[in-house]
Amino acid sequence: MNRKLIEKINNLTSKENGAVLKEPGGRINICLVYPNTYHVGMSNLGFQGIYTLLNERNDVLCERSFFPDDEDIEEYARTKTELFSMESKRPLNRFDIVAFSVSFENDYPNVLKILELSNIPSRASDRKASHPLIILGGVCAFFNPEPLADFFDICFVGEAEEMLQEFLEVYRESETRADLYKKASHIEGVYVPKFYTAKYNNGTLQRESIENAPEKIKKQYIKDISSNRFRPSIITPETEFSGMYLIEAMRGCPWQCRFCVAGHIYNPPRKKELNAIKQEINMALKTTKRVGLIGPSLTDYPFAKDVLKLEGVDFSITSLRASRKSAELAGLLKGHKSTSIAPEAGTERLRRVIAKKITEDDIIETSKLIFAEGVENLRLYFMVGLPTETDDDINGIVKLATRIRACSKKGGLTLTLSTFVPKPFTPFQWHPMEKIEIVKDRIKTIKKLLLPIKGIRVFHDVPKYAYMQGLFSMGDRRISRVLEAMLKIHDWRKACIDSGIDPDFYMMRKKDFTEALPWDFIDSGISKERLWEEYQKALKKA
Ligand code: SF4
Repeated sequence: MNRKLIEKINNLTSKENGAVLKEPGGRINICLVYPNTYHVGMSNLGFQGIYTLLNERNDVLCERSFFPDDEDIEEYARTKTELFSMESKRPLNRFDIVAFSVSFENDYPNVLKILELSNIPSRASDRKASHPLIILGGVCAFFNPEPLADFFDICFVGEAEEMLQEFLEVYRESETRADLYKKASHIEGVYVPKFYTAKYNNGTLQRESIENAPEKIKKQYIKDISSNRFRPSIITPETEFSGMYLIEAMRGCPWQCRFCVAGHIYNPPRKKELNAIKQEINMALKTTKRVGLIGPSLTDYPFAKDVLKLEGVDFSITSLRASRKSAELAGLLKGHKSTSIAPEAGTERLRRVIAKKITEDDIIETSKLIFAEGVENLRLYFMVGLPTETDDDINGIVKLATRIRACSKKGGLTLTLSTFVPKPFTPFQWHPMEKIEIVKDRIKTIKKLLLPIKGIRVFHDVPKYAYMQGLFSMGDRRISRVLEAMLKIHDWRKACIDSGIDPDFYMMRKKDFTEALPWDFIDSGISKERLWEEYQKALKKA
């Protein structure tokens, strides 16, 4: 085995507190894979939570693997070393199950690279029973697993905590792979892609289920997050939150902004009870004083103030809504010099279109209060390219940022601009994405107009990668060809041309209500009719 690669992994594991080591014999051996770097994967509470849940079972051993750095990929290839796990350094192809947790569409090409580095055929149809079972989980599997469907044997559609346990029982009982697929396809939320065929009529989709598999897959969610043991096992300084213990305070969001996939697929909103969160904080304090509260809109967490008032804990929180309560919460985060709010759009009109239910007065008032609490840097999140956006809305971002800057003499602003990408299971799933050239021009305009104002910094994403993200998000099984081509051609546009895929067909076309969408087979709990109604309401607000 390659010493350089082992040393690099040992260097990371030596800084970890809480990794689980078990004997493999007599257990189901699972390698849990995050298709991005160690730093990104270990910052993800979902990945860490599944690692904890699996290792709590005595009959399961769960180890981890991540997408290697560029220089390590070269080293793996040069020395013909197969990708191995962090814990036992065993190649992935020697595990019973390789389970991917996928949170971001732009990581899809990494999934295929990981399979290649592991010497595992990427297409499920090319694998034998001697290969590990390849499973897809994570938020991307909730809303549209289709671009990855040809590469996976099993997909978990929804929150995996409960169906995973049921699946492992079925795995233990099944004598053959064929038996396993049949039984697993009847577990609610488990999707076995090989039991479904996709045919395309004028480019759009018609699906059929075979082998008696259910036509619809019901997305799963757990009812109670208070009794849930979904928590991190490992604390390490090598994450985005450097040595912080993450605690999930809320799951799901009551607001359902029309562009937001998280607001639609993590429903219903659930909160962790105060006692449960206190117990977790006590557990965290055995390792670290630094605790991060996670939730889509923590301003709405009813126990936020009680928690943040607890002594002896250095809290961080993810997201605040523009409201008086947020300013109070920011004040309770003693010593924190930075916080964030997300106006998303520059004008009242566009915020009505996207159903972001905050007014300009809310934003200004909250900003003043936050600065008065001693916060020195306020981060503001905006989107560019939103449906019905015009130059007025872009000027609105500039005016709003200028007004907020004037709320404080010394406080600075950091604007983050993200390109709007239509997503499945949102009212904008039928809406075309804005042309990339227009988005680029609008970002340039905002930067130019804000440049002369002292104390405002502007960051933005790269619109062409947002377009790629959209293609992987909204695509169907044909996108698998693009992902395969990207193993050789890194430029995704060239990979599309080589695979005969026109990305504009998926992203730049206004779709009709009657069109069968690739993810229609998932019952997310929100009807297509209701999403369409919301879409029509949005267009009327334009
Ligand atoms: S408040 Fe935030 S998390 Fe909730 S739906 Fe809106 S954008 Fe999504």
